[in-house]
Amino acid sequence: KKEDKSILITGGAGFIGSHVVRLFVTKYPNYHIYNLDALTYAGNLENLKDIEESENYTFLKADITDEEQINTLFTTHQFDSVIHLAAESHVDRSISDPLAFAKTNILGTMILLNAFKNLWQNDWKDKLYYHVSTDEVYGSLGQTGLFTETTSYDPNSPYSASKASSDHFVRAYGETYGLPYVISNCSNNYGPNHFPEKLIPLFINNIIHNKPLPVYGDGNYTRDWLYVIDHARAIDTAFHKGVLGETYNIGGFNEWKNIDLVKLLCTQMDKALGRALGTSEALITYVKDRPGHDLRYAIDANKIKNELGWQPSVTFEEGLEKTIAWYMANGDWLKQVTSGAYKTYYSKQYNQD
Ligand code: NAD
Repeated sequence: KKEDKSILITGGAGFIGSHVVRLFVTKYPNYHIYNLDALTYAGNLENLKDIEESENYTFLKADITDEEQINTLFTTHQFDSVIHLAAESHVDRSISDPLAFAKTNILGTMILLNAFKNLWQNDWKDKLYYHVSTDEVYGSLGQTGLFTETTSYDPNSPYSASKASSDHFVRAYGETYGLPYVISNCSNNYGPNHFPEKLIPLFINNIIHNKPLPVYGDGNYTRDWLYVIDHARAIDTAFHKGVLGETYNIGGFNEWKNIDLVKLLCTQMDKALGRALGTSEALITYVKDRPGHDLRYAIDANKIKNELGWQPSVTFEEGLEKTIAWYMANGDWLKQVTSGAYKTYYSKQYNQD
């Protein structure tokens, strides 16, 4: 049976990628989904255990910075679409090792773009290169205003600079070679399978183990939060309905100051663990600020909402409850990812055991 589409999803063993892979594999049995991932510290095939036997799913262990390997895979499998998520994704790590971010996020993206271009440049019909990016490329906002698709890029961390650069290359390949692309820039995600170096899973894990909750600076940093499954739904929408050459901002219409978010999380965790109200909040400790920390990100997601008909399906309270329930039910997953290499990193980062 000839599949309708042969889609390469990169970074599918990671946090967001695993939800995108699951959605596409289950929703589109007529597509073949190839999940390409190098399985770095952030990639975990446990995230996809429930769908790994599906007929329309294949895992490919490969590194997007290995040009020869990537070219061979494109020639062998003739992917007609790419959804590119593989990246180094953690801002703190980008501060200690910026080169690794340039390599994976910039060079890796270019190697994929080249492979795609070399395969299809005489036949772009029905092909699509979908690039997943972040709202951090827009830099920082003051107390008011929102990032829109026309906001100028102004990245402040090595992570966001590398993502900004990759977005520019995608656009440039569109302008220069006619490569059909769609880019989306999304705000902070949270939900199941999130690696516990990021705020929400880190704090859930710390609360479970009665460890301090390290809040940066005065806790007034403001972010927009989106449930990861809603991000996967947005990617599905923009992949199928997005206009070629367009960018779509994706967000939750859900802005929170870090400290307010942490307090809400503490209240929900007290309930989930059957502890007295206030037990978790007592674990909050303020730690030295991250250099170049952006004060506020807030995203206007009205273009994808009005033009493509996507909107978040859960409220923040519901999403957090689902997330907490998932982490409580998946203690083994947490144990596995918090052991070994991660543990060394974690203690170095926060001077804790
Ligand atoms: P993640 O770190 O959880 O997953 C990244 C995946 O990429 C991992 O499975 C890892 O093994 C893989 N990978 C890393 N380097 C690779 C390489 N050289 N070759 C092949 N695979 C490699 O990241 P995430 O949070 O799921 O983010 C996915 C994408 O979404 C990234 O491009 C990120 O910039 C973007 N994004 C993330 C957020 C967020 O809140 N997490 C928000 C907006 C956009």
